[in-house]
Amino acid sequence: METRKAYYDPPSTVPFIANILEIRPYNDMAALILDATVFYPEGGGQGGDRGTINGVPVLDVQEKDGEIFHIMAGVDGQKLKTGPAELILDRGRRRDFTVHHTAQHLLSGTILRMAGAPTVSMHLGDDTAHPCTIDVDTRELTTETLTAVEDAVADAIEENHPVIIHLCPPERVEDFPLRKVPPKGEEVIRVVEIQGNDFSPCCGTHAATTGEIGMLRILGAEKYKGMTRVSFIAGRRVLRDSRVLRRNAETVSRALSVPVAETGAGVSVLMEKATQLERKLKALEEDAALRRAEALLREAGLLDTSAAGEGRVLTECFADADMEEVLRIGRAAQGLCAAVLVLASQRDLKFAGLCAVKSVDIRPLLKEPMEKHSGKGGGGPSFFQGRFSTAEDLAAFLKSIPQTR
Ligand SMILES: [Zn+2]
Repeated sequence: METRKAYYDPPSTVPFIANILEIRPYNDMAALILDATVFYPEGGGQGGDRGTINGVPVLDVQEKDGEIFHIMAGVDGQKLKTGPAELILDRGRRRDFTVHHTAQHLLSGTILRMAGAPTVSMHLGDDTAHPCTIDVDTRELTTETLTAVEDAVADAIEENHPVIIHLCPPERVEDFPLRKVPPKGEEVIRVVEIQGNDFSPCCGTHAATTGEIGMLRILGAEKYKGMTRVSFIAGRRVLRDSRVLRRNAETVSRALSVPVAETGAGVSVLMEKATQLERKLKALEEDAALRRAEALLREAGLLDTSAAGEGRVLTECFADADMEEVLRIGRAAQGLCAAVLVLASQRDLKFAGLCAVKSVDIRPLLKEPMEKHSGKGGGGPSFFQGRFSTAEDLAAFLKSIPQTR
């Protein structure tokens, strides 16, 4: 027996009474077959409804070979048995889908009319992490076009056009100027008309008038498989999204002391300042590193000598510098002498070996002592780095390196 599709009726606030005809195993769960249902089964890009049957949550609703399966975690026998049952629909979720589904028809119809681009597929996401999208057969939709589309949709919402469902036999379907090809093999085709805007064959649930959509926002358009994927939100999701954006904008506005409407320009100014400061900071850091390198080499007698330390090995452990700073000092020192430099950061328990002389390979000098003291690392002939897990190992490693090659 076919389940009566009461999900096309407007959702009611009172529980719906139907009969459980059959309970079947469904994968590791159970599926109920009812004589009538208010739960829409997943299909036509719209998710299945949720709610409860005799107080037990409905996990999913699927339609297969004309049968509607109400999927439940299991059947305890107390609450779920054949006979009359009380169905309560999650009306919030249904309303959200209904609003987005109707909004999608209006959006697809408007893009077709204004940009000549048909919608090839659509997806209704159930939250902001999975937004609602349509894939439109065009390589580009400009910002100007999208804004004009958004305004035209807003007009149609304000004009509150009725949404009319036509149930027609397949041979009469050509009476309607359909936006997309109707399904084959159906006894009755549901044509959804948004008066003055759009005709589309569709099995989903729809609002009674465009006014119920409330508002539609296009979030963006990106290239997708040779087409354009347009993402959008409608109804309450626009309100929730607006609240989040406003809250964020107010935080930025207060932080930058600019009006909310000027936060974009304010951030650009801030970013420009940050870039300049970064540049200045980098120059200062390089300068400081050069000074420390000079001091280190001077103390070791490696600065301003004719041989510039060729054949010498200089080890130094910096107690107050992190490895990033040590590397800056190393690179500066490398430019001033020909010695092998083995410089370490006490803080990070890391070291680097550097040498400016191309013919020198520093690996034999460092690899074996590093491994002997349980260090890990590697590198090439003129740059080698490693790390230790204790300060003692690092100290012992540095001590073990001969001061000449
Ligand atoms: Zn639809």
